[in-house]
Amino acid sequence: MSSPTIGVLALQGNVREHLAALTASGATAVPVRRAGELDAVDGLVLPGGESTTMSKLLDAFELLDPLRARLRAGMPAYGSCAGMILLADEILDGRPDQHQLGGLDVVVRRNAFGRQVDSFETDLSFAGLPGDPVHAVFIRAPWVEKAGGAVEVLAAVPHVDVAGDAAGRPVAVRQGPVLATSFHPELTGDRRVHGLFVDMVRAAA
Ligand code: GLN
Repeated sequence: MSSPTIGVLALQGNVREHLAALTASGATAVPVRRAGELDAVDGLVLPGGESTTMSKLLDAFELLDPLRARLRAGMPAYGSCAGMILLADEILDGRPDQHQLGGLDVVVRRNAFGRQVDSFETDLSFAGLPGDPVHAVFIRAPWVEKAGGAVEVLAAVPHVDVAGDAAGRPVAVRQGPVLATSFHPELTGDRRVHGLFVDMVRAAA
């Protein structure tokens, strides 16, 4: 499959940026708002935005069960920031009524970098991505507080002074066909994380 069809969950958040990054990485990128559109994709990106809002919209658009079913059936998925929160099996500091899609055996802490600190940026080494470190932009981001045995940690916050409590926290993980990052590669013009996900979708097809 040279050009897999990859959806971007288009209920809220950074949809356009992911569509552009996927297209630049060789995928046919389409927005997904309905169950019928979900049926037609080989993989799905869950963008950053606000996980509590997306959770409500998943209900309103009747996407919660179809999406859970596709994830259980092994559809490749990539969640960035709020998307990581949605994919996590468990969250800390979430709203009690917010839904988890599940499929990623991690506990994430929502807004872990602090509510005041809107943005934190650092360079990360990212396992499996050749070349320079990845410049990571965090926006009211979660981090991974606990990861199950089947979860591979691909990147963690480096032990630099500005990192504070975030130092050493995993911020990019993979479990089989599911990839998640706390940060937003769609905002930096570095296509390597999207390239990795497109390769994962090709490999799963
Ligand atoms: N804090 C947001 C949430 O809880 C995530 C922020 C983001 O996606 N940039 O969903």
